[in-house]
Amino acid sequence: MKSCQIFIFTDLDGSLLNHNNFEFKEIKDFILDCIKNGIKIIPNTSKTNSEIQVFLDQLGQNLPFIVENGAAIHNLDLVHPKIKGKNNSLVFSRSLAEILELFEKKIPKNFQKRCFFLKDMSSIEQMKILGLNKKYLPFALNREYSIPLVFEGSKEIVNEFTRLLKEIGMKLHEGGRIYNICDDCSKGKAMITLIEKLKNEFNFNYHTIVVGDSPNDISMLNVSDQPCIIPLPNKKNLRHLKDKKIIRATQTAPQGWEEVVRESLKKINFELEG
Ligand SMILES: [Mg+2]
Repeated sequence: MKSCQIFIFTDLDGSLLNHNNFEFKEIKDFILDCIKNGIKIIPNTSKTNSEIQVFLDQLGQNLPFIVENGAAIHNLDLVHPKIKGKNNSLVFSRSLAEILELFEKKIPKNFQKRCFFLKDMSSIEQMKILGLNKKYLPFALNREYSIPLVFEGSKEIVNEFTRLLKEIGMKLHEGGRIYNICDDCSKGKAMITLIEKLKNEFNFNYHTIVVGDSPNDISMLNVSDQPCIIPLPNKKNLRHLKDKKIIRATQTAPQGWEEVVRESLKKINFELEG
């Protein structure tokens, strides 16, 4: 199995990072062992570029990564030294200015009135809504491809708003605390585009492991060789996915991440050395 490149595309919050305190120190050595053994770990998250930099600093490693629900891939040269992309990145989303312009031009005013953008709020309101302190708030707000907002309206009105956005080629992502208006991107689309590009340009064998915990991870779980699901504390997440291939962790993150990755590697007879 050593001639085959192993990729781990992983969500961060709740999958690799503890759901409550965002810690991962218990599995840091294991992650570093995987990297040392040539496994390519690619965070694929709704987080922003600056939030991922915080994680990479804590890990003490530079990795390729996918930001804001599949909007862009950065550090391409770390995926393959010869892969080409402008500024070492592949961008799948229109810019924030374009998304905002389209929203203002095409979405009816009675729906626009229900949207309360975080960018227009005071920092006290922003911290309260996002559950973040002063130190991490700027990292979360520094979005390049999505507009975080609070939307006021019933489930039916949210559905209608989602439909209107879809008509103009955009998506409404529902997070735990807020909504995000994004371009028509997903974690799965970004992952498969990268894999196809590698396959076409460099013609090599690969095996993909995907680790996720939430609905926005389904698109990438669906296109993986080995889907893995991490349970959330006190919540039945992704129980409706029935694929027999799925490995489900018995522990939450971060320990659950190590558990499913070890089991995935065992299934393909890959032994970690050193
Ligand atoms: Mg998550």
